[in-house]
Amino acid sequence: MKYFSTRGSPNLHTFSEAVLIGLSKDGGLFIPQTTPALPSDWKTAWLKHSFTSLAFEIFSLYIPDNEIPRKDLGKLINKSYSTFRTSDITPLKKIKENLYILELFHGPTFAFKDIALQFLGNLFEYLLEKKNLEESLDGKNITKKERITILGATSGDTGSAAIYGLRNKKDISVFILHPRGKVSPVQEAQMTSILDKNVHNLAVEGTFDDCQDIVKTLFSDDQFNKKHRLGAINSINWARILAQIVYYFHSYFQLFSSLNILPSSPEASNICLQYCVPTGNFGDILAGYYAKRMGLPIETLVVATNSNDILDRFFKTGRYEKIVNDEGDGRGKHTVHETLSPAMDITVSSNFERLLWYLACESIDNKSSEERMSIAGSIVKRWMEDLKSKQCLIVEKSQLELALRDFKSARISDEETKETIRRYYAPQDLKTQISYVLDPHTAVGVAAADKQKISSNTYQICLATAHPAKFSTAVEESLKSFSGFKFQEILPTEFVGLLEKEKRCVYIEKADPEMVKKVIESELGREII
Ligand SMILES: *Cc1c(COP(=O)(O)O)cnc(C)c1O
Repeated sequence: MKYFSTRGSPNLHTFSEAVLIGLSKDGGLFIPQTTPALPSDWKTAWLKHSFTSLAFEIFSLYIPDNEIPRKDLGKLINKSYSTFRTSDITPLKKIKENLYILELFHGPTFAFKDIALQFLGNLFEYLLEKKNLEESLDGKNITKKERITILGATSGDTGSAAIYGLRNKKDISVFILHPRGKVSPVQEAQMTSILDKNVHNLAVEGTFDDCQDIVKTLFSDDQFNKKHRLGAINSINWARILAQIVYYFHSYFQLFSSLNILPSSPEASNICLQYCVPTGNFGDILAGYYAKRMGLPIETLVVATNSNDILDRFFKTGRYEKIVNDEGDGRGKHTVHETLSPAMDITVSSNFERLLWYLACESIDNKSSEERMSIAGSIVKRWMEDLKSKQCLIVEKSQLELALRDFKSARISDEETKETIRRYYAPQDLKTQISYVLDPHTAVGVAAADKQKISSNTYQICLATAHPAKFSTAVEESLKSFSGFKFQEILPTEFVGLLEKEKRCVYIEKADPEMVKKVIESELGREII
């Protein structure tokens, strides 16, 4: 299995290269050469598999044995998921008839990004160690062993999940920039209370966009980039998508087990499955799309957005269009609405390009698969150029129809989010529905689920992407009218005293790339002695 770029560059890459490089040189995202087929007996052979055994089966389809021997792969997986607080890693809970919540927040930072980043951290460490070993066997100078410096900007969730994934990893330093005072207190404390030597938090005086711009500047600074071997962990890394495919399969088996139906039985084929996913950068739901392509019987994937709705507008019109606000400072800044679900506040979705590639490729008729792949690359390249120059790309009607075979979408306002949190906390009929506290991101997905017209044999699985205590303000504001609701009751013990813990963070008084470069070099100097 090799990987290639969505923008048509003819180079093929190994899995390891795709992971370590992250983004193709032509600006495209890596996708697997083919979608691997499932073994014909998967419904019975995988039936009793734990989360980690399923991960092993699925990863094995995408990672050649000669890149990561199976024995090592098993160890990497077990190590990655040993940090989770529940033995089934992603429990599935029935809330009411036909509606289930898939809890993805039992990792170290209480949000779904842990599922990918716990694995990615171990994977980086493993691949680097292997490279260093191979080079020392080649007789190269091992005193110059490869290290990487992971650099990223965060508005909250990604940064903390990355730090917990990379803390204390050999030959890896991690620098995470956040806008000072603009991330939630819990998120800030989660990041800055990690005191491992290789973890560096930089609190920048500025906005998230300023942090993002600094990161981009440093990545495009060839000299600095080469010297420190900068690496990224953002949501376009293929390994993150791969790790997320697992819980779609896991929840499928959990659902059938709770219905007491064998997935391989004729009865099972009457059941329709719909996944509702709170969506920002399109990584989480893209993993569901891969699961479906592999053969998991998913009827529909529902893209749930907040008022940052570029994706919802795409599925309604075939136009993928940024909203540009030219009024303010005249710089044509893209407007992001601040919502109650901040991890989904985006202007464009970085993983969407991968879906666009499949839409382009599959709308081409009468060509060999090689020709189709290369034509698709040039179509995507043109679309991305349109997006850059005209702020908009438009797909053909037939391509939108292809997308609508797999996806539906809904846009949820903050008012609807709060109303949904209330409705699920205090259901009208406690005989048919249990009381459940939704975090605001999960509530967006659940609200989208409730908007779908479904038949009695359709089961909806809503992905719960964060623990409600992580976004306490929105939850408390929604539930303040219920005198019986006590926030303390949902507060995990890990959060108690978090704000008072010892912290380490470097303050950057101006959003200036040169200043950040100096700090990175002096911090690295202190770390690597
Ligand atoms: C990142 C995140 C999302 C959005 O996931 P994408 O893969 O970017 O679509 C949703 N909810 C929470 C809590 C997140 O941290």
